Amino acid sequence: MTPASRPSTLHALGEFGLIRDLHKHCHTPGSEVIQGIGDDAAILRTSPKESLLASTDLAIEGVHFDLAFESLQDVGYRTAVANISDIAAMGGIPKFLLVALAIPPSYSIHNVRALYQGFKKPCRQYNISLVGGDTSTSKSGLFLCLTILGHVRANRALTRQGAKVGDRVYVTGTLGDSKAGLQILQRQRKQKKTTTHQPYETFLKKRHLRPIPRLAIGQHLSQGRLAHAAIDVSDGLSGDIHHLCHASRVGVELWATHLPISRQCHAYAAAHRCNPIDIALEGGEDYELLFTIDPRNHGRVTELSHMLKTTMTCIGEIKPKPFGLRLKLEDGINRKIMRQSYDHFSTKP
Ligand code: ADP
Ligand code: MG
Repeated sequence: MTPASRPSTLHALGEFGLIRDLHKHCHTPGSEVIQGIGDDAAILRTSPKESLLASTDLAIEGVHFDLAFESLQDVGYRTAVANISDIAAMGGIPKFLLVALAIPPSYSIHNVRALYQGFKKPCRQYNISLVGGDTSTSKSGLFLCLTILGHVRANRALTRQGAKVGDRVYVTGTLGDSKAGLQILQRQRKQKKTTTHQPYETFLKKRHLRPIPRLAIGQHLSQGRLAHAAIDVSDGLSGDIHHLCHASRVGVELWATHLPISRQCHAYAAAHRCNPIDIALEGGEDYELLFTIDPRNHGRVTELSHMLKTTMTCIGEIKPKPFGLRLKLEDGINRKIMRQSYDHFSTKP
């Protein structure tokens, strides 16, 4: 491709095309950087026994959150969990959080405290210290940038690379609840207060507003050297399986009938005449862990699932790269897995 014909707008390149380009052009000299750009967190050598994990996430009003249907405390909580989940995906232990914010001067101190209540809740729960940040005025809307630091035993970090042909693909919990919960919140904003709400809606809204980072599972997968590759489901299964397969240079067959979908998500899909499998594939922000293991270790995953009281479902098999990424449907037909998840640059300006 000639330079002139190369896609130059971010819209043409896409979010992940941009990240790959940044990765190619960012130099990481020295041997301290074990993993730079390209995984859920950077892995940095700090001592022979332990590595530092570092990850940062933005949350922008109107892009990542909408204060018309969620509180500042909800926003703080969800943003902190998104950050913590990246450490879970590496099998690490989160330790320190830094919070940078740009905030309109019209906000009150009570607003800021509510936001910090949201950050502090998961920090207390997972023993994370909020140790710094930065503050600026904002001319429009609220901007957050959270940075988390954690650690992991040397050579034990879980990465997106390492999935092997023949591995089984597992996912924790259920998929699609967060997206269904978000859609309910968006609809309810437009409805009259008197509209009756379905019981499944409360569950799905909570799954969106109060996600759970799968820290204990990630740590067990890493300590027991159980997972060959792992990622957290933040963009949606269809996008995150692409990231994992791209990093591991493999293909995959996922089985539609095995995707774990909650009965509440099924009820939502039936009420709104949509396919729950599509919600599970597209839905981001579930923060479940997606990982691959040697099929001989199936029993160990079952034991772990009982011990941690969290479902772990086998949803497919790793295939050679030329197989591509395919979804086997109920009728046996195999279709290509399109990346349906959110891309920050996919909508035209
Ligand atoms: P996640 O969804 O797990 O938070 P992202 O898709 O945001 O991961 O990022 C993927 C990788 O790209 C990460 O390693 C991240 O640090 C890196 N990355 C994203 N944006 C940038 C950027 N602007 N500059 C450098 N690295 C980036
Ligand atoms: Mg991630």
